[in-house]
Amino acid sequence: MRRISIFGATGSIGQSTIDLIARRPEAFDVVALSGGANIAQLAHDARRLNADIAITAYENRLDMLREALDGTGIEAAAGAKALTEAAARPADWVMSAIVGAAGLAPGLEALKQGATLGLANKETLVCAGSLVLRTAEAHNARLLPVDSEHSAVFQALVGEDMSAVERIIITASGGAFRDWPLKDLQSATLEQASSHPNWNMGQRITIDSASMFNKALEVIETREYFRVEPDQIEVLIHPESMIHALVGFRDGALMAHLGAPDMRHAIGYALNWPERTDLPVERLDLAKIGQLNFRAPDLARYPALRLARDVMDRGGLSGAVFNAAKERALDAFIAKRIGFLAMADVVEAVLDRFETRSDLIDAEMTLDNVEKTDHLARVWADEVMTQQAG
Ligand code: NDP
Ligand code: MG
Repeated sequence: MRRISIFGATGSIGQSTIDLIARRPEAFDVVALSGGANIAQLAHDARRLNADIAITAYENRLDMLREALDGTGIEAAAGAKALTEAAARPADWVMSAIVGAAGLAPGLEALKQGATLGLANKETLVCAGSLVLRTAEAHNARLLPVDSEHSAVFQALVGEDMSAVERIIITASGGAFRDWPLKDLQSATLEQASSHPNWNMGQRITIDSASMFNKALEVIETREYFRVEPDQIEVLIHPESMIHALVGFRDGALMAHLGAPDMRHAIGYALNWPERTDLPVERLDLAKIGQLNFRAPDLARYPALRLARDVMDRGGLSGAVFNAAKERALDAFIAKRIGFLAMADVVEAVLDRFETRSDLIDAEMTLDNVEKTDHLARVWADEVMTQQAG
């Protein structure tokens, strides 16, 4: 039996992960499950999977969770500290599927105990890539990508030497507004940004797909995970979301990874790695699909992609700044306090401020420094938004 923990179990990725392990209950021993506000779902899954402990991110929900688990013998805990403590419990495989920078600390803790970490939480690598890789190496832990593009690249690289890689191409559907005239984006609403043409995902990543902030994070994630140079990474608009990524080799060969847009493929690959086993995902019928389309992304339309290039050039803590500012701007868009296009303006203004802080630019990448910088960037983002509103 493999001991498994799932952080962000109540979310879109967490539920897909549970769907896979619930099909083979005899193979897994569930240690910890975490959630946020959705206590009913967390308690339901903790009961049916007989977890050792369930943790909610919110301390004011602990009583509710305790009540929902009453009589089961399953421990209940709450808060950020309880999350990292639960991640330190011995497990063989851990899913990192919390949304946002809050996923970083539990992920690091899981690596410290030598677990294999399935990484859906791309913010972990964006905020603290070198720290995460260093931690994994020091503790002999393995990091497996779960983001579909990165899982695709990982699979295309099996048996290959990185020195033979010329470029990595990650695809993007283009999100909800890919066919909108640029001038209409100004007035795009929350409801319009919250629906994705191909993928069924959490609300935040769905909006990030429409703005391409998701792809911007993924470009940085590619750089951090595969250690390639920024100019080796390309983004390609591919509206059908069937090819998830391609790897180009020195001899001109391009290896593409195709699959139905269903996250259970990438999750299952990481869960079963290094083996492949049956997965309940749709098989592509290419004759029926007929054609696949591609086009280059328009950088004027997607400033997030330009900003990601700046972050890769700067390195260090700039990824943490970029992500934190994006999270705050996204919070404000979801609260209908700023418009769709204003999100990128906020992030750019916060990155400009970072450029004036040589103390932060030169700071060492430790969890403490990442968290302090993340906090500061959120304060700056709020200040920028107050200024813009005034
Ligand atoms: P969801 O919003 O669906 O789920 C997020 C999970 O994190 C939920 O369990 C939520 O709890 C919990 N959570 C929210 N805030 C906090 C917090 N502050 N501290 C601890 N836990 C918290 O997100 P997704 O599943 O869509 O995405 C999860 C991660 O995976 C993200 O990093 C995303 O970028 C990445 N990803 C997602 C893909 C997808 O298809 N969805 C594809 C590739 C990557 P609750 O809901 O109970 O409040
Ligand atoms: Mg992705």
